[in-house]
Amino acid sequence: MKKQFAVIGLGRFGGSVCESLAKQGMEVLAIDTDEDKVSKFANIATHAVVANTTDENTLQSLGIRNFDHVIVAIGDNIQSSILTTLMLVEQGVKSITVKAQNDYHEKVLNKIGAHRVVHPERDMGIRIAHNIVSKNVLDYLELSDEYSIVELMAGKKVAGKSLVDLNIRANYGCNIMAIKQGEEINVSPNADDFIQQGDILIVIGADTDIQRMERSLF
Ligand code: ATP
Ligand code: ATP
Ligand code: CA
Repeated sequence: MKKQFAVIGLGRFGGSVCESLAKQGMEVLAIDTDEDKVSKFANIATHAVVANTTDENTLQSLGIRNFDHVIVAIGDNIQSSILTTLMLVEQGVKSITVKAQNDYHEKVLNKIGAHRVVHPERDMGIRIAHNIVSKNVLDYLELSDEYSIVELMAGKKVAGKSLVDLNIRANYGCNIMAIKQGEEINVSPNADDFIQQGDILIVIGADTDIQRMERSLF
Protein backbone atom coordinates (compact mmCIF):
# COMPACT_ATOMS: atom_id res chain seq x y z
CA MET A 1 0.00 0.00 0.00
CA LYS A 2 1.15 3.52 -0.80
CA LYS A 3 2.42 5.62 2.07
CA GLN A 4 0.11 8.40 3.12
CA PHE A 5 1.42 11.85 3.92
CA ALA A 6 -0.25 15.02 5.16
CA VAL A 7 1.34 18.44 4.74
CA ILE A 8 0.00 21.22 6.96
CA GLY A 9 0.85 24.73 5.73
CA LEU A 10 1.35 25.36 2.03
CA GLY A 11 3.90 28.19 2.11
CA ARG A 12 7.08 27.92 0.07
CA PHE A 13 8.51 25.13 2.22
CA GLY A 14 5.35 23.09 2.77
CA GLY A 15 4.32 23.64 -0.83
CA SER A 16 7.62 22.33 -2.09
CA VAL A 17 7.48 19.27 0.21
CA CYS A 18 3.95 18.57 -0.99
CA GLU A 19 4.86 18.87 -4.66
CA SER A 20 7.93 16.69 -4.31
CA LEU A 21 6.03 13.95 -2.46
CA ALA A 22 3.35 13.96 -5.16
CA LYS A 23 6.02 13.73 -7.87
CA GLN A 24 7.44 10.68 -6.09
CA GLY A 25 4.03 9.05 -6.42
CA MET A 26 3.01 9.35 -2.77
CA GLU A 27 -0.52 9.98 -1.50
CA VAL A 28 -0.55 13.52 -0.12
CA LEU A 29 -3.22 15.43 1.74
CA ALA A 30 -2.51 19.18 1.53
CA ILE A 31 -3.97 21.35 4.30
CA ASP A 32 -4.07 25.11 4.78
CA THR A 33 -6.40 27.72 6.27
CA ASP A 34 -5.97 29.81 3.15
CA GLU A 35 -8.43 28.90 0.41
CA ASP A 36 -6.28 30.29 -2.40
CA LYS A 37 -3.31 28.17 -1.35
CA VAL A 38 -5.49 25.07 -1.12
CA SER A 39 -6.97 25.54 -4.58
CA LYS A 40 -3.43 25.96 -5.96
CA PHE A 41 -2.65 22.47 -4.69
CA ALA A 42 -5.91 20.82 -5.72
CA ASN A 43 -4.29 19.44 -8.88
CA ILE A 44 -0.93 18.63 -7.29
CA ALA A 45 -1.87 16.80 -4.09
CA THR A 46 -4.12 13.74 -3.88
CA HIS A 47 -6.54 15.77 -1.76
CA ALA A 48 -6.42 19.41 -0.70
CA VAL A 49 -8.58 20.79 2.10
CA VAL A 50 -9.18 24.10 3.82
CA ALA A 51 -8.81 23.46 7.55
CA ASN A 52 -7.46 24.98 10.71
CA THR A 53 -5.29 22.32 12.30
CA THR A 54 -5.27 23.96 15.73
CA ASP A 55 -8.80 22.63 16.12
CA GLU A 56 -8.81 19.15 17.61
CA ASN A 57 -12.13 18.09 16.09
CA THR A 58 -10.96 19.16 12.64
CA LEU A 59 -7.85 17.00 12.95
CA GLN A 60 -9.92 14.09 14.13
CA SER A 61 -12.42 14.37 11.29
CA LEU A 62 -9.55 14.41 8.79
CA GLY A 63 -8.50 11.07 10.26
CA ILE A 64 -5.02 12.47 10.79
CA ARG A 65 -3.91 9.58 12.99
CA ASN A 66 -4.13 7.20 10.05
CA PHE A 67 -1.42 9.01 8.09
CA ASP A 68 2.06 7.50 8.02
CA HIS A 69 3.77 10.85 8.20
CA VAL A 70 2.59 14.39 8.91
CA ILE A 71 4.68 17.45 8.04
CA VAL A 72 3.92 20.69 9.88
CA ALA A 73 5.12 23.59 7.75
CA ILE A 74 3.47 26.48 9.57
CA GLY A 75 6.23 29.04 9.92
CA ASP A 76 5.41 32.50 11.17
CA ASN A 77 2.58 31.52 13.48
CA ILE A 78 4.65 29.70 16.07
CA GLN A 79 1.68 29.27 18.38
CA SER A 80 -0.30 27.45 15.67
CA SER A 81 2.69 25.32 14.82
CA ILE A 82 3.16 24.25 18.45
CA LEU A 83 -0.52 23.63 19.07
CA THR A 84 -0.89 21.60 15.88
CA THR A 85 2.18 19.53 16.73
CA LEU A 86 0.97 18.88 20.26
CA MET A 87 -2.36 17.58 19.00
CA LEU A 88 -0.71 15.37 16.40
CA VAL A 89 1.40 13.86 19.18
CA GLU A 90 -1.67 13.40 21.38
CA GLN A 91 -3.55 11.69 18.58
CA GLY A 92 -0.69 9.26 18.20
CA VAL A 93 0.58 10.16 14.71
CA LYS A 94 3.53 7.82 14.11
CA SER A 95 5.86 10.23 12.40
CA ILE A 96 5.77 14.01 12.75
CA THR A 97 8.22 16.39 11.07
CA VAL A 98 8.00 20.07 11.93
CA LYS A 99 9.64 23.12 10.45
CA ALA A 100 11.11 25.34 13.17
CA GLN A 101 11.34 29.08 12.88
CA ASN A 102 14.09 29.56 15.47
CA ASP A 103 16.01 27.75 18.21
CA TYR A 104 13.39 28.31 20.92
CA HIS A 105 10.68 27.01 18.65
CA GLU A 106 12.85 23.96 17.96
CA LYS A 107 13.38 23.35 21.68
CA VAL A 108 9.65 23.41 22.39
CA LEU A 109 8.89 21.13 19.44
CA ASN A 110 11.41 18.57 20.65
CA LYS A 111 10.01 18.74 24.21
CA ILE A 112 6.42 18.13 23.15
CA GLY A 113 7.35 15.10 21.08
CA ALA A 114 7.94 16.07 17.45
CA HIS A 115 9.90 13.21 15.89
CA ARG A 116 11.96 15.39 13.65
CA VAL A 117 12.53 19.14 13.59
CA VAL A 118 13.92 20.78 10.49
CA HIS A 119 15.39 24.22 10.03
CA PRO A 120 15.54 24.71 6.28
CA GLU A 121 16.52 28.38 6.20
CA ARG A 122 19.37 27.93 8.67
CA ASP A 123 20.64 24.73 7.04
CA MET A 124 20.56 26.17 3.55
CA GLY A 125 22.37 29.25 4.89
CA ILE A 126 25.17 27.07 6.26
CA ARG A 127 25.48 25.14 3.01
CA ILE A 128 25.59 28.24 0.89
CA ALA A 129 28.12 29.93 3.19
CA HIS A 130 30.50 26.98 2.84
CA ASN A 131 30.11 27.11 -0.89
CA ILE A 132 30.77 30.86 -1.02
CA VAL A 133 33.85 30.78 1.23
CA SER A 134 35.58 28.11 -0.80
CA LYS A 135 34.85 27.73 -4.48
CA ASN A 136 36.01 24.11 -4.27
CA VAL A 137 33.26 23.22 -1.81
CA LEU A 138 30.28 22.35 -3.99
CA ASP A 139 28.01 21.06 -1.30
CA TYR A 140 28.03 20.48 2.39
CA LEU A 141 26.00 18.26 4.68
CA GLU A 142 26.33 18.58 8.43
CA LEU A 143 26.18 15.16 10.13
CA SER A 144 26.65 16.51 13.65
CA ASP A 145 28.38 19.45 15.33
CA GLU A 146 31.74 17.92 14.48
CA TYR A 147 31.29 15.77 11.38
CA SER A 148 30.26 16.53 7.82
CA ILE A 149 30.12 15.23 4.29
CA VAL A 150 31.44 17.64 1.65
CA GLU A 151 31.68 17.64 -2.11
CA LEU A 152 35.02 18.99 -3.28
CA MET A 153 36.11 19.85 -6.80
CA ALA A 154 39.55 18.44 -7.61
CA GLY A 155 42.00 21.10 -8.73
CA LYS A 156 45.58 20.99 -10.09
CA LYS A 157 47.18 19.96 -6.80
CA VAL A 158 45.51 16.56 -6.72
CA ALA A 159 45.18 15.93 -10.45
CA GLY A 160 46.97 12.82 -11.69
CA LYS A 161 47.49 11.47 -8.18
CA SER A 162 46.07 8.32 -6.61
CA LEU A 163 44.51 8.07 -3.15
CA VAL A 164 47.58 6.31 -1.83
CA ASP A 165 49.83 9.02 -3.35
CA LEU A 166 47.84 11.59 -1.42
CA ASN A 167 47.50 9.20 1.52
CA ILE A 168 44.35 11.01 2.53
CA ARG A 169 43.06 8.73 5.31
CA ALA A 170 46.48 8.49 6.92
CA ASN A 171 47.31 12.20 6.58
CA TYR A 172 43.95 13.80 7.23
CA GLY A 173 41.75 11.13 8.82
CA CYS A 174 39.10 11.69 6.14
CA ASN A 175 37.57 9.08 3.87
CA ILE A 176 36.78 9.56 0.22
CA MET A 177 33.41 7.87 -0.15
CA ALA A 178 33.01 8.39 -3.86
CA ILE A 179 34.59 10.04 -6.90
CA LYS A 180 32.36 11.53 -9.58
CA GLN A 181 33.94 11.68 -13.02
CA GLY A 182 31.40 13.31 -15.32
CA GLU A 183 28.42 10.98 -15.39
CA GLU A 184 30.30 8.12 -13.77
CA ILE A 185 30.45 7.60 -10.05
CA ASN A 186 32.98 5.35 -8.36
CA VAL A 187 31.29 4.54 -5.07
CA SER A 188 34.10 2.61 -3.43
CA PRO A 189 37.37 4.08 -4.58
CA ASN A 190 40.53 2.05 -4.05
CA ALA A 191 43.93 3.24 -2.94
CA ASP A 192 45.22 3.05 -6.53
CA ASP A 193 42.34 4.98 -8.16
CA PHE A 194 43.49 8.21 -9.80
CA ILE A 195 41.93 11.63 -9.46
CA GLN A 196 41.59 13.95 -12.44
CA GLN A 197 41.15 17.70 -12.48
CA GLY A 198 37.44 18.51 -12.33
CA ASP A 199 36.53 15.28 -10.55
CA ILE A 200 34.17 15.69 -7.63
CA LEU A 201 35.25 14.01 -4.43
CA ILE A 202 32.70 13.16 -1.76
CA VAL A 203 34.51 13.26 1.54
CA ILE A 204 33.39 12.29 5.03
CA GLY A 205 35.26 13.36 8.15
CA ALA A 206 35.62 15.64 11.14
CA ASP A 207 35.21 19.32 10.22
CA THR A 208 38.72 20.14 11.46
CA ASP A 209 40.24 17.33 9.36
CA ILE A 210 38.25 18.27 6.27
CA GLN A 211 39.40 21.89 6.66
CA ARG A 212 43.03 20.81 7.01
CA MET A 213 42.73 18.73 3.86
CA GLU A 214 40.92 21.50 1.99
CA ARG A 215 43.65 24.03 2.82
CA SER A 216 46.54 21.88 1.69
CA LEU A 217 45.03 20.02 -1.26
CA PHE A 218 42.19 22.16 -2.66
P1 ATP B 1 7.51 29.69 3.83
O1 ATP B 1 7.73 28.22 3.74
O2 ATP B 1 6.88 30.27 2.62
O3 ATP B 1 8.66 30.47 4.36
P2 ATP B 1 6.46 30.48 6.27
O4 ATP B 1 7.47 29.76 7.08
O5 ATP B 1 6.61 31.92 6.11
O6 ATP B 1 6.37 29.81 4.87
P3 ATP B 1 3.77 30.82 6.82
O7 ATP B 1 3.54 31.51 5.54
O8 ATP B 1 3.68 31.54 8.09
O9 ATP B 1 5.09 30.05 6.81
O10 ATP B 1 2.82 29.55 6.94
C1 ATP B 1 2.74 28.60 5.96
C2 ATP B 1 1.30 28.29 5.68
O11 ATP B 1 0.69 27.76 6.84
C3 ATP B 1 0.47 29.48 5.26
O12 ATP B 1 -0.03 29.24 3.96
C4 ATP B 1 -0.63 29.54 6.30
O13 ATP B 1 -1.88 29.88 5.74
C5 ATP B 1 -0.66 28.13 6.86
N1 ATP B 1 -1.21 28.06 8.19
C6 ATP B 1 -0.96 28.90 9.23
N2 ATP B 1 -1.64 28.53 10.32
C7 ATP B 1 -2.35 27.42 9.98
C8 ATP B 1 -3.26 26.56 10.68
N3 ATP B 1 -3.58 26.77 11.95
N4 ATP B 1 -3.79 25.51 10.00
C9 ATP B 1 -3.49 25.29 8.71
N5 ATP B 1 -2.64 26.06 8.00
C10 ATP B 1 -2.08 27.12 8.62
P1 ATP C 1 44.45 2.03 6.19
O1 ATP C 1 44.79 1.45 7.47
O2 ATP C 1 44.61 3.54 6.17
O3 ATP C 1 43.10 1.61 5.66
P2 ATP C 1 45.47 0.30 4.15
O4 ATP C 1 46.84 -0.19 3.84
O5 ATP C 1 44.38 -0.62 4.46
O6 ATP C 1 45.55 1.49 5.22
P3 ATP C 1 44.87 0.98 1.43
O7 ATP C 1 43.45 0.71 1.12
O8 ATP C 1 45.94 0.13 0.86
O9 ATP C 1 44.99 1.19 2.96
O10 ATP C 1 45.22 2.47 1.06
C1 ATP C 1 46.46 3.06 1.35
C2 ATP C 1 46.26 4.48 1.76
O11 ATP C 1 45.56 5.17 0.72
C3 ATP C 1 45.41 4.65 2.99
O12 ATP C 1 46.19 4.61 4.17
C4 ATP C 1 44.80 5.99 2.77
O13 ATP C 1 45.64 7.03 3.24
C5 ATP C 1 44.68 6.10 1.29
N1 ATP C 1 43.30 5.76 0.88
C6 ATP C 1 42.87 4.66 0.26
N2 ATP C 1 41.54 4.68 0.03
C7 ATP C 1 41.11 5.85 0.54
C8 ATP C 1 39.85 6.48 0.64
N3 ATP C 1 38.72 5.94 0.15
N4 ATP C 1 39.79 7.69 1.24
C9 ATP C 1 40.89 8.28 1.73
N5 ATP C 1 42.11 7.73 1.68
C10 ATP C 1 42.24 6.54 1.09
CA1 CA D 1 9.17 32.18 5.86
